[in-house]
Amino acid sequence: MKKIYSVAVDGPSGAGKSTLAKAIARELGIVYVDTGAMYRSIGLHIREKGIDPQDAAAVIAALPEIHIDMDYSDDGTQHMYLGGRDVSTEIRLPEISMYASHVSAIPQVRAFLMEMQRSIAREKSVIMDGRDIGTVVLPDADVKIFLFADVKVRALRRMKELEERGTPKSYDEVLQEMEQRDYQDSHRETAPLRPADDAIMVDTSDLDFAGSRDLLLDVIKGSVGQ
Ligand code: C5P
Repeated sequence: MKKIYSVAVDGPSGAGKSTLAKAIARELGIVYVDTGAMYRSIGLHIREKGIDPQDAAAVIAALPEIHIDMDYSDDGTQHMYLGGRDVSTEIRLPEISMYASHVSAIPQVRAFLMEMQRSIAREKSVIMDGRDIGTVVLPDADVKIFLFADVKVRALRRMKELEERGTPKSYDEVLQEMEQRDYQDSHRETAPLRPADDAIMVDTSDLDFAGSRDLLLDVIKGSVGQ
């Protein structure tokens, strides 16, 4: 068993990355790093400042004033702070998803967050989820997993999640936004969403939570020798 190891989990939204990665982190006693939450925090700041998230020059000019921190509660939940303010709940608002997707296409925004992401993995064993973890952030990760599922299945999952959060949206609206975000995330020039050449592909369309979790745990334990 290696002392420090890293697991990269990439894939489109709604494939189950965060729920699974969080459960696996708890099971293995390692840290779960949600990199989407970092992009969301930048998206939130840009929105609060009234900046157009597609205006790259304006977003880049705002970066020096953005201070992002994170910490973890005892149950492994990641909390995000923007300028010292806990924004963990706000960044989950549906409108922030598109802001995050737009600002994340800007290379300077990605560079701004990358060192933060890498430094966590240097110090601790992590399971890190995002879009470019296996391809760009942690190209030497011990295990790379690419989680995906049919877009209709993902839209249904997201719809349920939004309902539970008290911010419901119609299926058609969720599906359309998801397709738009998938397209943006996989067609941008910098760090597009794509599986690393050595990623293990896992389709969760027909798997329930327990089935997906057990499969991933087997893959990870097999790779890191636990
Ligand atoms: O994972 P989540 O849906 O919270 O991510 C929000 C957005 O942040 C994604 O749609 C994507 O554009 C961006 N993102 C990214 N790279 C990551 C994680 C998230 O570009 N590693």
